[in-house]
Amino acid sequence: MIDTHAHLSDRFKREVDLSHLDWVILSASSLVDSKDNLELAKNNPKLLPAVGIHPMEKITDIRATINELEKLITGEVVAIGECGLEFGDEVDKEKQVELFEQQIELSLKHKKPLIVHSRKASDETIEILKKYKNLRGVIHCYTGGKKRIKGYLEISDEWYFGIDGNITYEIGLEEVVKEIPKNRLLAETDTPFLAPVPHRGETNQPEWVKYVYGKIAEIWGMRVEETEKILDDNAKRLFGI
Ligand SMILES: [Zn+2]
Repeated sequence: MIDTHAHLSDRFKREVDLSHLDWVILSASSLVDSKDNLELAKNNPKLLPAVGIHPMEKITDIRATINELEKLITGEVVAIGECGLEFGDEVDKEKQVELFEQQIELSLKHKKPLIVHSRKASDETIEILKKYKNLRGVIHCYTGGKKRIKGYLEISDEWYFGIDGNITYEIGLEEVVKEIPKNRLLAETDTPFLAPVPHRGETNQPEWVKYVYGKIAEIWGMRVEETEKILDDNAKRLFGI
């Protein structure tokens, strides 16, 4: 079992039990997170680091930040992200787009898949991703509904959808999962957020990805072992594990 999206960097740090998991992909929201991820991965072969800058991160000099980020891209890094767009109130959309595009460029240049965060900006996110050829990656915590699945699938044959613990309590999401091809789905926790039933409201942990696997198995009408094989193969393919 693989948790393809967790935050375990210093600001969230605590003891987690990884004994039932094969790997955990460490998502990053800032330069500090990215450095933490590299450090954590050094001490535990089950932890696979991503480096990236979240769209809501306050950045003054994008060019300088991207240069710093690029210096962190080593052979151990499995992905660039999470990066993307979040168009809430009073955000500088132009700046977010630039920061996002710069990280897409890094993903292509260094041949690392992209972990994309998109909130209140689904159509804009697809529009940007479609401009690039051969992009590989995942739309993390997919919330684009049924109607945007096709748009994401058109990005490339190696575009995936991340499904989190909210699948255990958001009824509408079940219908969305049914529409996503089985070979394009990834299970994630987004630890410490989005704890699944029966731990809703608690601090999430990578081990609880088993509830996401379980729910997807139920939706697919398959045994958990079969489901696990498909989801793990998807993660291994995308992240080169
Ligand atoms: Zn995240």
